[in-house]
Amino acid sequence: MTGTKATTDFDVVVVGAGPAGAATAIRSAGLGHSTLLVDRAQFPRDKVCGSCLHPRAVADLRELSVQASAEALGAVPLERARIGASGRWAELPVAGAAALSRWRLDAALIDVAQLAGAQVRTGVAARVEPNEPGSGRRRVRLGGGDEVVEASLLIAADGLGGALLARVGEVTAPSDDGARVGLGATFDDGGELDLPAGRVDLGVGRSGYVGLVRLEDGRVDLAAAADPSALRAVGAAAAVAAVARECGLVLPAACVDASWAGTPSLTRHAERPFAERALAVGDAAGYVEPFTGEGIAWALASARVTAEHLTRLLEGWSPEAAQDWARAQGAELDTARRRCALVAGFVRHPAWVAALVPVVARSRVIASLVARFGYGRAHE
Ligand SMILES: Cc1cc2nc3c(=O)[nH]c(=O)nc-3n(C[C@H](O)[C@H](O)[C@H](O)COP(=O)(O)OP(=O)(O)OC[C@H]3O[C@@H](n4cnc5c(N)ncnc54)[C@H](O)[C@@H]3O)c2cc1C
Repeated sequence: MTGTKATTDFDVVVVGAGPAGAATAIRSAGLGHSTLLVDRAQFPRDKVCGSCLHPRAVADLRELSVQASAEALGAVPLERARIGASGRWAELPVAGAAALSRWRLDAALIDVAQLAGAQVRTGVAARVEPNEPGSGRRRVRLGGGDEVVEASLLIAADGLGGALLARVGEVTAPSDDGARVGLGATFDDGGELDLPAGRVDLGVGRSGYVGLVRLEDGRVDLAAAADPSALRAVGAAAAVAAVARECGLVLPAACVDASWAGTPSLTRHAERPFAERALAVGDAAGYVEPFTGEGIAWALASARVTAEHLTRLLEGWSPEAAQDWARAQGAELDTARRRCALVAGFVRHPAWVAALVPVVARSRVIASLVARFGYGRAHE
């Protein structure tokens, strides 16, 4: 028996409805391009993420839609970051950032994409068919069955370690040697943790670091980066507990029973983030260890730059047009990524962090300068 083939044509098919994919779909549909947004997950859902919105993410969300703005979603404004190592802690001022659960943010962005006119399919995994050079189309298989959609442009927004374009040998983002992996859990601490809303705690240890922030719904978001060897040896909860103990953070009991999730290697880079009629955006194009919490800002910026090039790419795809798009992505993101990589390198040395802490604690001016360097300017 042969199945029924449902083939549908779009200008743009976006795979992955995290911030990069959803924001690209919102902008693409807003420009009048027929757009399909697909994600294998059902929303709302939690995700391994520190859930801190950098001021640039707050600004991009506000520009995207009033409905998806941090204010409308009830994000908690962040005022300070507490940094610690070896039991020493100091506070840095933070301005313009906010804490917001991925549970709420990602679902809201998907709603806005739908309102903007994009078709949205969730709970559906996508697979790209091998390219037929010169056909002018990309074919994407949905849900493992016979359903195939076609597009003039495919946006791979399938996140860290995304395999969509790698599986057909077109775009790969190999991880750096010694890269750490991400771990995370979101839980209700019953008020046990000394973590006021508006403060993010970042503790650094020899085998990783851990971040804690209170979300808009009162739950605690815990996100960590750990050496894969530590994770393999003792498991997620124990690896994070060891880092917390080393820097003097007391984790609540709820943390042990929380449902933990992990990520592939965090630091990776795609040399060439595009293939014929296919662009990789957000984490799918590369990522740097997340100590400064900027991935969502980069994902939203990546979508903004993509939208600026979309009409040209759709009307006359050429490798040169794609190269221009890639250069614009680099111009938007490279400075922030380099700064973030420097900070990530620094926090690989808890002794350096412990030495910096008393200096920062003594002077508000130095604290502001360190915060400014570590977190970057609002528009870098
Ligand atoms: C430990 C840790 C802490 C972090 N802390 C912060 C922070 O505080 N602030 C911040 O801004 N950033 C932070 N980040 C980074 C941030 O989470 C990412 O940069 C951001 O989620 C990237 O968005 P994205 O849309 O590119 O990818 P994602 O958000 O990962 O979305 C990718 C989507 O693609 C879907 N998908 C994948 N494959 C398929 C497929 N084949 N078919 C259909 N769907 C598919 C997935 O289900 C997923 O929903 C942190 C990351 C980690 C690991």
